[in-house]
Amino acid sequence: MSDHLMQTYARQPVAFVRGAGCWLFDENGDQYLDALAGIAVNGLGHAHPRLAQALCEQAGRLIHTSNLYRIPQQETLADRLCALSGLDRAFFCNSGAEANEAAIKLARLYGHNRGIENPAIVVMEHSFHGRTLATLSATGNRKVQAGFEPLVTGFVRVPFGDAEAVAKLAVQKNIVAVLVEPYQGEGGVHIPEADYLVKLRALCDANAWLLMLDEVQTGIGRTGKWFAFQHTDILPDVMTLAKGLGSGVPVGACLARGVAAATFVPGKHGSTFGGSPFACTAALTTLEVMEQDGLLANAAEIGAFIRQDMAQRLAGVAGVRDIRGQGLMIGIELDRPCGDLVKQALAQKLIINVTQDSVIRLLPPLVMGQAEAALLTEQLAGLVRAFLA
Ligand SMILES: *Cc1c(COP(=O)(O)O)cnc(C)c1O
Repeated sequence: MSDHLMQTYARQPVAFVRGAGCWLFDENGDQYLDALAGIAVNGLGHAHPRLAQALCEQAGRLIHTSNLYRIPQQETLADRLCALSGLDRAFFCNSGAEANEAAIKLARLYGHNRGIENPAIVVMEHSFHGRTLATLSATGNRKVQAGFEPLVTGFVRVPFGDAEAVAKLAVQKNIVAVLVEPYQGEGGVHIPEADYLVKLRALCDANAWLLMLDEVQTGIGRTGKWFAFQHTDILPDVMTLAKGLGSGVPVGACLARGVAAATFVPGKHGSTFGGSPFACTAALTTLEVMEQDGLLANAAEIGAFIRQDMAQRLAGVAGVRDIRGQGLMIGIELDRPCGDLVKQALAQKLIINVTQDSVIRLLPPLVMGQAEAALLTEQLAGLVRAFLA
């Protein structure tokens, strides 16, 4: 391994050189079943032919021009995302952290426009919003923050899933927004009560706060709907996207509705790379393939199968605390740290993730088929049983 990379990751000692659908191939030609999809990124799986063709064609025409000029693909993508979500306008960037930075800046500007000089944003315990200074400050995980103090101020933290705790903040006159993941991903795959977002929506309406949903992980079909908030009948004021949006080509977005959509004016925010013809082609093709191939329904169906089959295979196994999730965002919580399972699975040519020390996290490509899902559950259940024995 090269000594010239900064030591930001403890990497597994494998390099993949090629992929096809839910499968990855290493330098030796060994084949791995991918139940992580590059951390919820490769929704279309690897080397999807229609995406590869669209990207090749676009790369041969035009990759980047900057936002000083009109970008037709960006306009079409904004139209498409707004039609799918019910929101009004989009700003494009290159990652989830950047999308959340845009949302945080938007909320502060919204506050200043209303005469609030010290605006604060409500955020949640165990949340994850990114690694930039503002987003790590918003994140509810001390490990992400430690060593980077002074943190960005202007965040008020409450427990996730507790609408009452948010309601109690109404007395605090400088609150301008609530930033929350509909389902927490990095925090351990936590699914709140069904009416949580509805309650937050009502609180935001009553107090003129912006409801800002971080759908960086849950968005773009991951949970079986285009966006996780669509499991309810509310609309957010702001929504951030990234991970699955470009199928691996970096593209993020901050969408907004109503007064929030009118907050940014020229000069207030920007990005050199954001929303390039190339990145937007990746996103547009992703959305197109998802629709044509019925990947939302597939994510819902295969996700339900994986959860049910794992529950059956692990029934009565001591040490399995919970099997939960929505669509293809799945958490299996054990009663002990299980980070070692990542290595053990890799040795058996299976790619999984563990988050919060004791939660096995599955984020398979949305194209996963029934046969691959059955392989996954059989192999994973065996690994878990052996690990807990
Ligand atoms: C991954 C993630 C982010 C950060 O995205 P990056 O592209 O790594 O900056 C933000 N929010 C949530 C919910 C995420 O899962």
